[in-house]
Amino acid sequence: MANECDAVVIGSGPNGLAAAITLARTGLSVVLLEANSTIGGGARSAELTLPGFVHDVCSAVHPLAAGSPFFKTLPLEKFGLEWVQPEIPLAHPLDDGNAACLQRDVDLTADSLGRDGRSYRRLMTPLARDWGNLSAEFLQPILHWPRHPLALGKFGIRALCPTTLLTKLLFKEESARALVAGIAAHSFLPLESLVSSAFALVLGAAGHAVGWPIPRGGSQSISNALANYFRELGGKIEINRRVENLNEIPKARVTLFDTTVWQLARIAADRLPTRYRERLENFRHAPGIFKIDYALSSPIPWKAERCRRAGTIHLGGTIDEVANAERAIARGEIPERPFTLVAQQSLFDETRAPRGQHTLWAYAHVPLGDKIDISDKIEAQIERFAPGFRDCILARHKLSATDLEKSNPNLAGGDISGGATDVWQLLARPTFGATPYRTPLRGIYLCSSSTPPAGGVHGMCGYHAARAALRDVFGKQLPAVPSNEAVD
Ligand SMILES: Cc1cc2nc3c(=O)[nH]c(=O)nc-3n(C[C@H](O)[C@H](O)[C@H](O)COP(=O)(O)OP(=O)(O)OC[C@H]3O[C@@H](n4cnc5c(N)ncnc54)[C@H](O)[C@@H]3O)c2cc1C
Repeated sequence: MANECDAVVIGSGPNGLAAAITLARTGLSVVLLEANSTIGGGARSAELTLPGFVHDVCSAVHPLAAGSPFFKTLPLEKFGLEWVQPEIPLAHPLDDGNAACLQRDVDLTADSLGRDGRSYRRLMTPLARDWGNLSAEFLQPILHWPRHPLALGKFGIRALCPTTLLTKLLFKEESARALVAGIAAHSFLPLESLVSSAFALVLGAAGHAVGWPIPRGGSQSISNALANYFRELGGKIEINRRVENLNEIPKARVTLFDTTVWQLARIAADRLPTRYRERLENFRHAPGIFKIDYALSSPIPWKAERCRRAGTIHLGGTIDEVANAERAIARGEIPERPFTLVAQQSLFDETRAPRGQHTLWAYAHVPLGDKIDISDKIEAQIERFAPGFRDCILARHKLSATDLEKSNPNLAGGDISGGATDVWQLLARPTFGATPYRTPLRGIYLCSSSTPPAGGVHGMCGYHAARAALRDVFGKQLPAVPSNEAVD
């Protein structure tokens, strides 16, 4: 039977769209099938609470999108994407009423960290300066020939360190320790784990180099810009097309799955060699999350003045408290004071809420698949650092770990990372080697966050998967670091 197109991509998350664009840019005909009625997967926005309040359904804050070597090659501004930089990217309040802050400028940040300023400056200055080279190195499979071995080597040793050890070696005071611990907690790993520091270093360096921006109008603007560019390249998107079986997919030379490994194992079950299928099935999940979006009558009355100027705020108190909370999650327990991340987009983007009113995006880590409503605990954390917060609430929209899975099959059990990001699953994601996107089935590739470089809105999993497919099946070579140059 003749092919209906050159390539099919299953799923319109940032990685599916990135893969589809990479293929379409080389002149191939590409069809993208999306299960939902809206495109974007983990980068969508909707009026979840009250009319006029635009909430980010999943991703909200985008250091990795703004710093993505692939997105940089795309004309996304032409398709409506505009980054908004909050005055302070990140604040981490403490019980004494102060807040440690990551500012765009390394020196400004260091100057506010007292006796730890010097260490912070020495840690972050080279990473922020080398962001362009480093981001291309670590936003791809770990096993590759580095183009910048010295820079990568220095980063690698620190990145491998458990956060509790790195912060103890580098810092003397609570502010710097808590600030770095909060960023490291994005890993969903206990802070005593190897590579937990990598997340703090990458996201921290990105904060200095490109900021922690939000897209004007909501995260949907990222997906819409990608989708509209894809359509301009001749690509087709079909919504409400959930793929359950390989036979349902239009005939093409390559098919890329922006699905998790567990979904691919189910969809291609009878065709996959047993060993590979078992590898996918045994891939371990990260913990889940519980998410709440709020419509608020006024800005949040933070005790620490600097929190009122920050886009993202980490609520977890001291490093010991953040470490305890993450250890509890790893044991399958819900901590009394869960580490909570909030973003207050409407302070910096007036399109998000009616004049004078505001949105708040919040989530906390919970054990995988947890159904318990922990909104009381999340609100207690916010109230602790912003007394009077509850009086501002006009409406809430809650999503438990299991609700998240219903909204997007990639979020099984509330795992938003496509699988745990411990050292083993970063090295073999889901298999060892420089091309883990390839499956044993000819023409079938994985391109979701279950592949390197894992979660986040950056499109790099999609780029590298499409690059592998182009090389294997179409004999076209793309560079490891995305560029606008012609394909060989
Ligand atoms: C609540 C939450 C907050 C987050 N916050 C941030 C943040 O602030 N910054 C950040 O960078 N990242 C954040 N993330 C992570 C980020 O959203 C994901 O890492 C990213 O979206 C992964 O992209 P992806 O393309 O691999 O998968 P997804 O974005 O999950 O997209 C997968 C798409 O495939 C579709 N699909 C799945 N199965 C099928 C099927 N069988 N048939 C057809 N279609 C299918 C889904 O409907 C979905 O549209 C957050 C995630 C969540 C859930």
